[in-house]
Amino acid sequence: MGISEDSFVYALSSNQAWAGYKAHQNPDFFPRLATGQSPEILWLGCSDSRCPETVILGLQPGDVFVHRNIANIISPTDINTSAVIEYAIDQLRVKHVVLCGHSACGGAAAALSDQRIGGVLDTWLTPLKAIRNANKDELMAIRDEKARIVRLAELNVEAGIKVLMANMTIQEAIRDRGLQVHSTLFDIGSGRIRDLGFGTAKGGAKRGSSATNGTDVVRGNHGMLVFRSDGASMHVQ
Ligand SMILES: [Zn+2]
Repeated sequence: MGISEDSFVYALSSNQAWAGYKAHQNPDFFPRLATGQSPEILWLGCSDSRCPETVILGLQPGDVFVHRNIANIISPTDINTSAVIEYAIDQLRVKHVVLCGHSACGGAAAALSDQRIGGVLDTWLTPLKAIRNANKDELMAIRDEKARIVRLAELNVEAGIKVLMANMTIQEAIRDRGLQVHSTLFDIGSGRIRDLGFGTAKGGAKRGSSATNGTDVVRGNHGMLVFRSDGASMHVQ
């Protein structure tokens, strides 16, 4: 990879190569993409460069509507998160909301430390620090620092799901059309996403959903994503 000093120049030339490859592979790809979007997944994740949702899901442009912020914190008063949720659910009518934390999250590591970061970051991470404080005994009992960060990331997703499940837009969509809310964690070391089991997946809130046996399938252009009550998996076609 030629990413170094001229990383922007490299990125632009990489884009040219990618666009050429995609158009060659399927001449209809971009013209069709330009006609509009109808993604079935809303992804709420971390800004971390190692967690690009569409890439790690093996999906394509047009498949996932996205909001990412530092440490995937779901704050009910954050107008940015709220606007994305409202648009995705009310206008795009996505079928799945996926909240995804990840291993080695710098935000979780910072929240576990008592160091002041400075600027607006300490304020942003306050909800995560509150989760840390509320679970201090459990977290401090974990000797391995990496495992402690993963555990805080899990607790953060659990807390975020509680906020999502209390959101009126989400509540109405669950009730009226079987919207599913999923809690997941991305393990950077293996590239795998696992289901944490919070949200609608195990809550039986599947009224009106097209799901059968707790399984739901989202088809992309080159693969499909299967959500089950015991986890999610990706199948490449
Ligand atoms: Zn992160």
